[in-house]
Formats: sequence, C-alpha cells, structure tokens
Amino acid sequence: MHNLDAATLQMVTAVVDLLAFLVWLLLGLVLRVAPQASLLIAATHLLLVPALWPSPAGPWGPPLTMPATLLAFTCLALAMHRLMRLERIALTPVVLAALTGLGIALLYPDENAQRALLSLGVGLLGLLAGRDILLGAGFNRPITALLALPYLWLTIVGVWRGAALLGWLSAPIQTMGSGGLALLRLTINLAITAGLFALVLQRLIARVHHLTRRDPLTGLLNRRALDEHLASLQAQVDRGSCHAVLLLDVDHFKRVNDELGHAGGDAALQHLGALLSSELRSPDVLARLGGEEFCLLLPDTHPEQAVQAAERLRRRLAAAPLLWEGKTWPLTASFGVAGMEAGDRLGHDAMQRADRALYKAKAQGRNRVIRARATAGAEA
Ligand code: GH3
Ligand code: MG
Ligand code: MG
Repeated sequence: MHNLDAATLQMVTAVVDLLAFLVWLLLGLVLRVAPQASLLIAATHLLLVPALWPSPAGPWGPPLTMPATLLAFTCLALAMHRLMRLERIALTPVVLAALTGLGIALLYPDENAQRALLSLGVGLLGLLAGRDILLGAGFNRPITALLALPYLWLTIVGVWRGAALLGWLSAPIQTMGSGGLALLRLTINLAITAGLFALVLQRLIARVHHLTRRDPLTGLLNRRALDEHLASLQAQVDRGSCHAVLLLDVDHFKRVNDELGHAGGDAALQHLGALLSSELRSPDVLARLGGEEFCLLLPDTHPEQAVQAAERLRRRLAAAPLLWEGKTWPLTASFGVAGMEAGDRLGHDAMQRADRALYKAKAQGRNRVIRARATAGAEA
C-alpha cells in the first residue's frame, strides 16, 4: 500500500469526478434524463473536486474543502432520494448536513476533530442514500438493491475513519497510508458512479418502454402494446380459456371536429379514454387503436358477458356528454364484440370478427352493440 502514489490517485479521482460532472450535466440539461437527480449528481461530482486536488494545504484549504465535501454528499443523498422516487420530502439529509456543518464550525480550529466529524457526517449521509435505494428497490428488485452496497461501504469507511481520527480505535485504515486511502476513495467513487449510471439507464429503459407502448393523447395503451396482450391471451385461449374482444368506434366523430374544432375532438377522445378507464376491471386491457377507435380485451369473459359489458359502456357514454368550452356535446359509440377462438391468428381473427360486427352496428343505425358470429355457430 505504501508505494501507492496518493497524489496521482487523487488526481485520477478528481479527473473522474470532472468527467462525471460533465456527463451528468449533459444528461440532466440536454437529454432531460431524471433532470433533478442528474443535476444533483453533477453538483456532487463538481463539489468533490477541490477536496481531491492534490494540494490540501494550498489554495483549497479546509475552510473550502470541508463544506464542499459535506455539500457534495448531501446532494448525493438527495439525488438518490429523487432517483428512487420516494414520496416523502428528504428532510433528514438536509438536517444531518446542517448539524454536521454547525459542528464543524464550532470545532474550529481543531482540524483533526473537524475531519472526524466530517467523516462521520459523510458516512451517515451514505447510510441515508443506501437506505433510500433499499426502500425504493424493495424486495422485487434484488439486483437494484445491490447498488446500495457501495453506500454501505462508504458508511463503514466514514464512521471508521471518523472514529480512528478521534483516536477511539487504532483502525487498520490509519495504517493504510494516504495512498491506500486515496485508492479506497477512488474505488468507492467508481462503484457509486457505476451504480448511478445503472439506475438512470434503468429509468431510461423504463421510459422508452412506456413511451413505445402508450398513445400520447389519451395515455391508453397503443396498438403495439395491445398486440402483445392479444398474443398472450390467444395462447391461453388455445389452452382452453375464454376471452372476449370488444371494439368501439365513436359515432359521427367527424362532426365533433367540425363543430368544436380539432382541440374539441381531442378533448372528446380524452373524455372517452377516461370514462372507459374508470369502468375497467383490473384484468381488462384498454387500448386506442387510432383515430376514434378503441379496443377492450376482456379476459375470462364469455361473449355474452362481453355484450352486457359493452351495453353498460354504451349507456354510460351516452349519459356522459362532453363538456367543452361551455358547450355540451352528446357522444355515442357503436360496439362490435367477438369471442376469441382457439386457432385464431394471435387474436387478429377475433379482432376482424369484432370489426365486422362493429361495421354492422354502424350500418344498423349506430349507438348499438352487435356480437360477432362465432366461426362454428350463429350470431346471437
Ligand atoms: P362513423 O359514425 O361512421 O364512425 O363516422 P365518423 O365521423 O366517426 O368517422 P370518420 O371515419 O368519417 O371520421 C373520423 C374522424 O376522426 C376523422 C378524423 O379527422 C378524426 N380523427 C382521427 N384521429 C383524431 C385525433 O387524434 N384527434 C381528433 N380531434 N380527430 C381525429
Ligand atoms: Mg367513427
Ligand atoms: Mg373510425
């Protein structure tokens, strides 16, 4: 350990921090990935640089580096809190940092005691960040929970070093020499940085997944997501389950656009999306196919029950006109219902049968429900 060059290692850590600062700044400001957390992490890296620049007694004296270090780890704890999407406000890190800062000020000019308190404060802030990761990850995401390990390591090192500086224990950390300590710092820094990138990447992937499966206007699932559900329901139908498909198309929607304008038409689609969502059972899948056409997948539902569900939705919609800029606009829809059948192509045949039934509902005067003819039987 003794032949490690502390100054070089600190310099390397400082350069890593500067690079990480730029990357997080880019992520937060330009790419808008978890912007608040990214900017807090960028601040963390920037604030750590003065303490690492290898001239501790030079222009960056302890009066600057100690508060900067404390603030850096406060930002880190706050960033973790945001990144893990925890609800309550993160007061604890702020209070802890304020008390540590006050203690450091009161201990002046005893630099050794000040450093010890700073180490303890940083260790406890690491503990808060680690706790937030465990709380946010829960038991469902054990891999994410592993990202708490570098923070727990930071806590152990912080508390250990604080206690050693106060002479409470003759810890090996004291005998490591400044080179060993610098290496320890660098590894914790790299582990934390890698963990943060992993978390943000996970968020990014989740966001892309969400965006590619949602209709931006109504927030409902889109056609692509519906196809995935259809395929998995079809596999169940092929094994003997009984699921139904319901298609609905708003009647004379063009008139809504003509009379209320395109924005009014959009509001009508959002109104319809919200109304249908409020009527769903938990296993049902609702999607906007495009335009003013929606699809509802009803798992474990016989076509006859699906017809009753469609009737209920039809009456609900007819009784809930759109209110738009002081105007009331009645909305109705036509429904086609079909049962999914074993051997259908990924559920698309059921969709086609429901679509033909919907076409009939339009032809018969709209605002009605028609059940499709089953392949082997007669239409009800
Ligand atoms: P029908 O009862 O036969 O279904 O008549 P319709 O007027 O509802 O059907 P048509 O297919 O003639 O018109 C659908 C209209 O929906 C035309 C199109 O401009 C409008 N539309 C499609 N997508 C959107 C959208 O996202 N927002 C708005 N405001 N209008 C849309
Ligand atoms: Mg229509
Ligand atoms: Mg249409």
